[in-house]
Amino acid sequence: MASVTSSSMLLLRNFSTAGRIVQSVRANSRIFSTGELIRVLPRIGSPRSICTSRAAHNEEVAAKSAAAVADTGAPTIFDKIIAKEIPSEIVYEDENVLAFRDVNPQAPVHVLVIPKLRNGLTMLGKAEPKHVEVLGQLLHASKIVAEKEGILDGFRVVINNGVEACQSVYHLHLHVLGGRQMKWPPG
Ligand code: AMP
Repeated sequence: MASVTSSSMLLLRNFSTAGRIVQSVRANSRIFSTGELIRVLPRIGSPRSICTSRAAHNEEVAAKSAAAVADTGAPTIFDKIIAKEIPSEIVYEDENVLAFRDVNPQAPVHVLVIPKLRNGLTMLGKAEPKHVEVLGQLLHASKIVAEKEGILDGFRVVINNGVEACQSVYHLHLHVLGGRQMKWPPG
């Protein structure tokens, strides 16, 4: 933790980078305090780890080099969650949409809302007219999740699109965040 802190000091010139380092420290604390290492292991080496690793002093270069392999359309961990092959804490489910708690929450409420059928929607940037209906269903499901979680008066919906936005799972997902005061601009 001490080395993480000293590395962070070198990067404080860049406000957004500093924000990511704070996220990294929080994420690492959670990994070691909850014994969730096995569930988190598949993420090591992912674009997310590039975006939050203290070793990645030049995040932009690292993210661009990861872009070539990031969006292959291959099955993701979310396919296993949809198939119930790995556990998740489901908050809401209907015919088209699944919502489950993020394994590495960034707020007291942090739920991921995903389409059950990816249909080419690895990321929002791949959206086409044929996706309009499911995109609306995802937003509506986000509102239902916020209502169920008791955060309807104040919540945030985030979509990370691509490596520069630190997308780490290439199956479109909406982050529904709430339960604390949000900051703006985001890190
Ligand atoms: P993004 O970085 O926007 O692609 O978001 C992917 C999210 O998926 C991250 O917030 C991860 O913490 C989350 N995640 C990865 N694996 C799992 C899992 N097995 N269960 C729940 N959330 C996960």
